[in-house]
Amino acid sequence: MPSQTVLVINSGSSSIKYQLVDPETGDALAKGLVERIGDPMGVITHTHGGAVTEEEMPVPDHTVGMREVLRLFDTEGPTLAEAGIVAVGHRIVQGGRHFDGPALITDGVRDLIEELCPLAPLHNPAHLKGIDVARELMPGVPHVAVFDTAFFQQLPDRSALYALETETAEKYSVRRYGAHGTSHQFVSQEIAKMLGRDDLKQIVLHLGNGASASAVRCGKPIDTSMGLTPLEGLMMGTRTGDIDPAVVFHLERVAGMSVGEVDTLFNKKSGMKGMTGESDMRSVWAMIDNDDDPVAQKRARTAMDVYVNRLVKYVGSYTAELGGLDVITFTAGIGENDVHVRRELAEALSPFGVKIDVEANKARSGEPRVISAPDSTVELVVFPTNEELAIARQALAFA
Ligand code: ADP
Repeated sequence: MPSQTVLVINSGSSSIKYQLVDPETGDALAKGLVERIGDPMGVITHTHGGAVTEEEMPVPDHTVGMREVLRLFDTEGPTLAEAGIVAVGHRIVQGGRHFDGPALITDGVRDLIEELCPLAPLHNPAHLKGIDVARELMPGVPHVAVFDTAFFQQLPDRSALYALETETAEKYSVRRYGAHGTSHQFVSQEIAKMLGRDDLKQIVLHLGNGASASAVRCGKPIDTSMGLTPLEGLMMGTRTGDIDPAVVFHLERVAGMSVGEVDTLFNKKSGMKGMTGESDMRSVWAMIDNDDDPVAQKRARTAMDVYVNRLVKYVGSYTAELGGLDVITFTAGIGENDVHVRRELAEALSPFGVKIDVEANKARSGEPRVISAPDSTVELVVFPTNEELAIARQALAFA
């Protein structure tokens, strides 16, 4: 067991995800998930040293959930005595204008996170539950908030502002905060190290169930695709991404839909899921390959064309904003694993001299790797993101 570890906590509305991280190596020494908090029956899964423990029990609230997690550490290992936890890192979705980096959680910081709840009504209240119970149960170590928006606080006004009437925008804090910032920052820094250059013009494509793109020049973000909320930008598993806001007015007029209904439609029932019935890319590719169902096949192919075209548009516009492009990095579930999405994007960019190495692209590996041909104008890299490690390292600085 390393002498210093960090417990990383991601507290959601009905779940607590946790990982005990060695911030030196990035190893996850233990991890787990408490699910269905508040339901009649909850589930806790704890993994340590290759052994997986799953327990079903009622978990009425986050306090009970966190107590059970600490109990599992003691019964299944590593015990808290041997774990060497020197800090707890809390993932926080929305840090608004207050936080441009990690913050030691004091009562004042906690209140600021609470103040930001209107900007992240689903996430920040859930994070606060996790913070409160973890601070109470582990009072001897620093608790550190790491914000998903912090990296993008450096965005220049030209990309952070909407062309909305200024008074309304300022009064209601309407601007682009971005999201997945911890991942974009981590990956862009690691790529600079890997390629040995700090002057890179980079595009990072974080393609998971939620998906976002960022443009990073000399280590600083200059644009990103998510906005006030994670709805803006790329097409996603269940989100529309960019859509004409007038669609909201239209649906209200012609379909009598309420704002709440449109919110659910855009965030939970659209994207890949809404266009094909499946949000997982593996299922969508299976539909595309299935000649026995030509109707579903065509629908899936069309959805995939929309998905890839959105990527092409963002890469094109970010290249113009960056004034050139050195590297595109693919990360998260789809970015790291979807061979076809990477190939189709590269093919669309071939008129600009982008060339993928077909074999390198196909190779299965969890390691960072270059997948472009040596004579490609832009390097294409697959780099596994590790948000827990990034949070652990930022939290360690306060230990
Ligand atoms: P989240 O946004 O939930 O953190 P992830 O980064 O874990 O998402 O990505 C999950 C998505 O990754 C899945 O919905 C699926 O579309 C995609 N994915 C995972 N493995 C593969 C694979 N082998 N091929 C294609 N897509 C994959």
